[in-house]
Amino acid sequence: MLDFDNYRAAQIRLPQFGFPIPGCDPFDKAVVHKTYPESASPQKDLCEVTDFEEIRFEVTYGVCRAWIGPKDKSGSNSFIIKFAIGGSDERHKSLREEAAIYHEEIPSLQGIDVPTFYGYFEGATLGSDAERVSCIFLEDCGGPVYSSLVALPLSARAEILKKIGRIHLCGLTLDDFDEGNVVRRKKSYRIIDFQHVDFGHKCLWKGDRVYEGELVPTFSEIGCPIMHTYGLELDIWESRAPGSASFWIKSPEERIPNTLSKGVKFFHDDDVKNFHTWLKNYKQYEDSMTPEEYMEKFERPAFTRRYFGPRIFRPDQ
Ligand SMILES: [Zn+2]
Repeated sequence: MLDFDNYRAAQIRLPQFGFPIPGCDPFDKAVVHKTYPESASPQKDLCEVTDFEEIRFEVTYGVCRAWIGPKDKSGSNSFIIKFAIGGSDERHKSLREEAAIYHEEIPSLQGIDVPTFYGYFEGATLGSDAERVSCIFLEDCGGPVYSSLVALPLSARAEILKKIGRIHLCGLTLDDFDEGNVVRRKKSYRIIDFQHVDFGHKCLWKGDRVYEGELVPTFSEIGCPIMHTYGLELDIWESRAPGSASFWIKSPEERIPNTLSKGVKFFHDDDVKNFHTWLKNYKQYEDSMTPEEYMEKFERPAFTRRYFGPRIFRPDQ
C-alpha cells in the first residue's frame, strides 16, 4: 500500500491542455502538500513522482495515472491523481468534499468496494504563472468498464449491486449512477466518483443477499427501492415470471399467463405495475378473446432500460 504520510510534499506533473508542442514536455510540474487528513510529522522532504499517463483532461480538471518509481520497472506502484487546476473555486471545493466522503463517510469500504484514499493535496504549478492545484490521490483500481454494465457476467453485476448497497449502508446514495462509476482490474470491481452524492439515506438492505438469478424479490426482501430499481436495470433477476403472472390473473389454464407474459422484461418498478394493469385487463375479455387476440388488440406495454445503456462519456468523473 502506498503511503504519502511521510512526505512533506509531492512533486507531480499535470497535463497541459491543448495539442502537444513537439519537443516540449506535455506536462507542467506542480508541488502539492497534503492538507487532509493532516500528517502527524512528515519525516521526508519531497516525494517526486515522475511518470504519468493522462486518463482524462479538460481545461481545469482531470484524472491521471502516476507511478511511484519508473513506470516500466516491476514493483513500481501506480496510483490515481484526480485534480483541479486554476479555474473556478468550484472544482477545488468539490475535490475537497469528495476527499471528506472517502475519509469520513466510507472509510470501511476503502480497498474493498471503493479505492483506497491516500489524501487531499493542495499547491501550485511551478513557474512564473503559477496556478492553484488541488488533487486527491487514490488507489489505482484499473480502467473503466467500456461496455454496458448489463453485458457483464451475472456474478459481476450482483457484486456491483452489493457494493452499491454497502455504500447505501454508509448513508450515501450516488446521483446518476452509471457505467462511469465503475472501474475494473481483472475481475475486481470498484465504485468511483463521489462528487455527486446525497447524504442521509436510511437503507434497510440487510447487507447480504441480492438474490441474483432468482425471481424478482419483493421490496421488503431487498429492503431498498433504489437497489430494487438498480437490480432490475442490471438484469440481476429472472423477470419473466409465469408463476407470478398466474398469480395476477388467476387463470385455471397455465398457458394463458405463460403466453401473456412470454419474454417480458422489467427494468423498473413502474414496469411491473404497468404490466400488471395490462394483464389484469385481460380478465374482462377472457371469454371473448384468446390471449393472442388480446395481445393483438391491446398491445402489451414495452419496457426499456433507462440507466445502463451504452457507456456515455462523463467528463466530470
Ligand atoms: Zn438503499
